[in-house]
Amino acid sequence: MRGLVDLFSAVLGEGRLLAGSDIPDDLSHDETLGVAPVRPEAVAFPTRTSEVSELLDIADRHRVPVVARGSGTGLSGAAIAAPGSLLVCFAQMNRILEVDTENHVAVVQPGVTLEQLDRRLESAGLVYPVFPGEASASIGGNIATNAGGMRAVKYGVTRNQVLGLEVVLPGGEVIRTGGKFVKSSAGYDLTQLIVGSEGTLGLVTEATLRLHPRPRHAATLLAPFQTLQSITTTVPRILTDGFGPRVLEYLDATTLAAISSSVGLELGIPEDIRSRASAYLIVVLESSQERRLDEDTGELASLLDRLGAMEVYVLPSTSAAELIAARERAFFVAKAAGANDLIDVVIPRASMHAYLREVEEVAKRFGSYIGACGHVGDGNVHLTVFQPDLERCEETVRTILRLGLAHGGAISGEHGIGTAKKPWFLELEDPVKIALQRRIKAAFDPHWILGPGRIFDRPADLDGPTG
Ligand SMILES: Cc1cc2nc3c(=O)[nH]c(=O)nc-3n(C[C@H](O)[C@H](O)[C@H](O)COP(=O)(O)OP(=O)(O)OC[C@H]3O[C@@H](n4cnc5c(N)ncnc54)[C@H](O)[C@@H]3O)c2cc1C
Repeated sequence: MRGLVDLFSAVLGEGRLLAGSDIPDDLSHDETLGVAPVRPEAVAFPTRTSEVSELLDIADRHRVPVVARGSGTGLSGAAIAAPGSLLVCFAQMNRILEVDTENHVAVVQPGVTLEQLDRRLESAGLVYPVFPGEASASIGGNIATNAGGMRAVKYGVTRNQVLGLEVVLPGGEVIRTGGKFVKSSAGYDLTQLIVGSEGTLGLVTEATLRLHPRPRHAATLLAPFQTLQSITTTVPRILTDGFGPRVLEYLDATTLAAISSSVGLELGIPEDIRSRASAYLIVVLESSQERRLDEDTGELASLLDRLGAMEVYVLPSTSAAELIAARERAFFVAKAAGANDLIDVVIPRASMHAYLREVEEVAKRFGSYIGACGHVGDGNVHLTVFQPDLERCEETVRTILRLGLAHGGAISGEHGIGTAKKPWFLELEDPVKIALQRRIKAAFDPHWILGPGRIFDRPADLDGPTG
């Protein structure tokens, strides 16, 4: 590899290629639970598309595995290096190229973080509405995982916001897809094929994103319920009655208690209610008009009351922000408590109650503890599995994923397959669909250099990188 490191180094300026012991440990993992870190052979920090193109040209000719990395906050192991790989880290390709207030579009490089973009858009009165729990995540990582998050119930997920892309293919060719327009019927939709492809088809070097007006006012309601069933019957009513919530989340009582105490958040819920509540609904409404928001908040509080909420709290803005921030950190609270796996299965939202009852049964059967919270408005459940025995943990996960698919769902709603969920994907998904996806992969990347070992394995009879 030494000669190749020199070739990669020659493409980049001084200090933008790291190798050997110069590579910090932090670049050998993402945030996924239970996946071993892997040190890459070399790390490249490109600043422009032409450099990415040259790197991929060299890598393809020499069959060097390449893994893309944004901010490394992923939860599927997809940004972890492959053995002997070049890690292409987009942290320095982080310029917001344009905010077009007439077309409601932003054009950005892939290393731009959500936090950075949001800061820039605030003064323009616009918002890029994808808010997965980690604001340090990059746009490139969001695109590659089709990130969702709490606001998907109102605005949809990343793929609903990506209008166009610039992508470097293995071998170095550069394509541009889509543009500053919202519709196209011109051939296959390559933009949407790249979104969610977890860095296995091409490397994103520029994205054209849809922006939305930024509502100025928001209200957060917290409602404890005695049964989960009352929550799952309440959710469709909130959506049918046209409240259009920005956030519609549920947490089981244990998860709410854990995340509140982890940040010292006091929500003022009396012990009498806390001891009887089994789950909580969080609803955030937003509007550009304060009076309209006040009216909606009052009507929603009455609806929640009629549908069985034990109480409805309209939170002061500071507590509301703290609660949402604490909910976003739920993953780290579970990790600190020793969680062994995190699953983000998605099912039709009307099946939520039946599914969670089945999950409870599975937990009992395998002696596992399963914490639950999730984007209840779009059927995306986040289940943290506590089961230190590896075999039992696997059986627990396999069974709950299988049940999710039986409800007409999918293995991952937003985190992706990566390396962590690959065994389940290959075991439980339709083999015809997997074979078709492999053929698409081969059409983009004939030598399978990009993200080897992510989503599926490379065919054994191919020369080139392992994985
Ligand atoms: C506390 C916490 C809460 C989270 N909550 C949510 C949530 O609510 N919803 C949600 O969807 N996710 C959530 N996530 C997961 C994570 O934030 C998202 O998956 C995010 O999209 C990853 O972005 P990243 O920049 O960190 O990507 P990375 O982890 O660096 O990479 C993720 C994938 O993107 C690929 N990639 C990165 N850049 C490029 C590029 N330029 N071109 C091609 N491929 C690329 C990588 O190869 C990898 O496959 C959460 C994570 C944490 C730690």
